[in-house]
Amino acid sequence: MLRLPTFTYLQARSLADALRMKADAGPDGMFVAGGTDLYPNMKRRHQEPRTVISLMGIPELGQVERWNVGTCVTLSTLSNLPSFQLSHSAVTTAARLVSTPLLRNMGTLGGNLCLDTRCNYYNQSYEWRKAIDFCMKKDGAICWVAPSSPRCWAVSSSDIAPVMVAIGAEYRLVGPQGERVVPAGRFYHNDGINYLTKQPDEILAEVRLPAPDGWDAVYHKLRRRGSFDFPVLGVAAWVKWNGKKVADARIVLGGVASWPQEIPEAAAVLKDAALSDDIIESAADAAYRPSKPMDNTDFDLSWRKQMTRVYVTRALEELRTR
Ligand SMILES: Cc1cc2nc3c(=O)[nH]c(=O)nc-3n(C[C@H](O)[C@H](O)[C@H](O)COP(=O)(O)OP(=O)(O)OC[C@H]3O[C@@H](n4cnc5c(N)ncnc54)[C@H](O)[C@@H]3O)c2cc1C
Ligand code: SF4
Repeated sequence: MLRLPTFTYLQARSLADALRMKADAGPDGMFVAGGTDLYPNMKRRHQEPRTVISLMGIPELGQVERWNVGTCVTLSTLSNLPSFQLSHSAVTTAARLVSTPLLRNMGTLGGNLCLDTRCNYYNQSYEWRKAIDFCMKKDGAICWVAPSSPRCWAVSSSDIAPVMVAIGAEYRLVGPQGERVVPAGRFYHNDGINYLTKQPDEILAEVRLPAPDGWDAVYHKLRRRGSFDFPVLGVAAWVKWNGKKVADARIVLGGVASWPQEIPEAAAVLKDAALSDDIIESAADAAYRPSKPMDNTDFDLSWRKQMTRVYVTRALEELRTR
């Protein structure tokens, strides 16, 4: 059985409290929300904070005000918000597709959007990783997926992040220097190690969803076990309608890169067109080409690449029928 290391657990009651605790703890401190990602990672010694600062006791992070969602709202709550099921169904669908009910009861929106990137050579016990001499994401020097690569290719595996990028949500960050608001698309780096643009001492406090005004979005997920698994491919598709035609669009893929990967080539095909069979086929083809999954998650990578075409087609067909 994997055991947690010894650490100090602090419970912040306000954002100011949490920032002060983090400043006191320095680089050895980390924030935690539901802990469904951080605690398993600590058991495998991926992250080794000496001080863990819980954000769950900060009232404002648990609130939902119109389209602004506090980041400690659990995935169960988010997926069951009746108003959001109508107005932002891609968000509630993605939240509902995360893992199991137990994990959704604990896991939060903020933790999901900051989720560590994943790789078959990394999500292993300390002893397993030691046996292969570790890798550059933690404790080692080489990438076992691409040994001549100077970078880590661990995969963005959040279900909700691609949806946030696709719909153009904004994130409010609170840190020692004050507050800033960033578009979801600028919160992520395509780098398996430095996968967030957020500083370690910044708290993701709130997610601002766009008001529902003439756009629609859907999310489709590929995984081995429908009841449980991380996405090996996620497709978030957003369109702004102009009558029956698409005025603007965004297609974002999860599970194929170290960030939610926007595919502007596919969006360009959709712009100013109706979602006919031909247009959907061309957009799916445009998404297929830049989709380059690596051999570090479940399933055969060439099959996962082919599934990009299938899942983009399904997502756009769903948008056409709504
Ligand atoms: C068996 C299993 C299956 C899973 N399946 C899926 C899946 O299918 N899809 C999926 O998307 N995820 C999956 N997960 C991952 C995880 O459960 C969810 O992503 C969950 O939403 C993470 O939220 P959390 O609050 O538990 O995060 P935590 O573990 O608390 O935090 C995760 C990371 O985010 C940071 N963090 C958390 N909140 C904040 C904040 N407000 N500000 C700044 N930093 C913050 C923490 O420091 C940590 O680095 C799975 C996990 C397990 C164990
Ligand atoms: S992609 Fe390479 S460096 Fe990154 S976690 Fe996997 S093996 Fe390690």
